[in-house]
Amino acid sequence: MLLRKLREEVLEANLELVRRGLVLYTFGNASGISRKDGLVAIKPSGVPYESLGPEHMVITKLDGEIVEGDLRPSSDLPTHLEIYKSFPNAGGVAHTHSEFATAWAQAQRPIPCLGTTHADYFHGEVPVTPVLTPEEIGSDYEKNTGLAICRYFRGRNPDAIPAVLVASHGPFCWGATAGAAAHNAAILESIARMAYYTVTLADAQPVSRALHDKHFLRKHGHGAYYGQVKSQ
Ligand SMILES: [Zn+2]
Repeated sequence: MLLRKLREEVLEANLELVRRGLVLYTFGNASGISRKDGLVAIKPSGVPYESLGPEHMVITKLDGEIVEGDLRPSSDLPTHLEIYKSFPNAGGVAHTHSEFATAWAQAQRPIPCLGTTHADYFHGEVPVTPVLTPEEIGSDYEKNTGLAICRYFRGRNPDAIPAVLVASHGPFCWGATAGAAAHNAAILESIARMAYYTVTLADAQPVSRALHDKHFLRKHGHGAYYGQVKSQ
């Protein structure tokens, strides 16, 4: 069996996505690449995580040709391949539909850097890709998703921002290994959740003084009238 260690790393990265609550059922996929061999190992499509073993990982070339494996690779394989082709330091890719990161992707809003947790991992906002055209969706959809990601990062450093939100879809993350990509997917979900709460809190306005006073004073103090009159 080819690339036993890489298969195990990729399996472990996929299981980490499940353990961290980032994938539901068979949503999500992680892959890893052996640059030396020019080969990618990726989760098979639609197989329950409980029954996955290293032998089920599918080995492909960078052009997508299957080298070893009886199962079909994850349908997002072409997106992973474009990332590997454009980002020379990417050794692993992870894709999830984790809820908060996906909410930002669906809102087509980049995640702003609102605090130090974000700044520790991502040197700038986590971007959203441009919306795909009907033509891009109509043929080679998954490859075009990858090309949209790579177009955004042309002239930018993907190592400094190892995640992107695909518009109306969800996050793709990468890292030096499949495990690092899964780790970044978990961190991304955490900062997406914190950013959601921060933006929500920052938008909230205090109630008016009049309404505040009305509710406090109708329960407390001399003029209180809330509840039943106390019997003697
Ligand atoms: Zn997806």
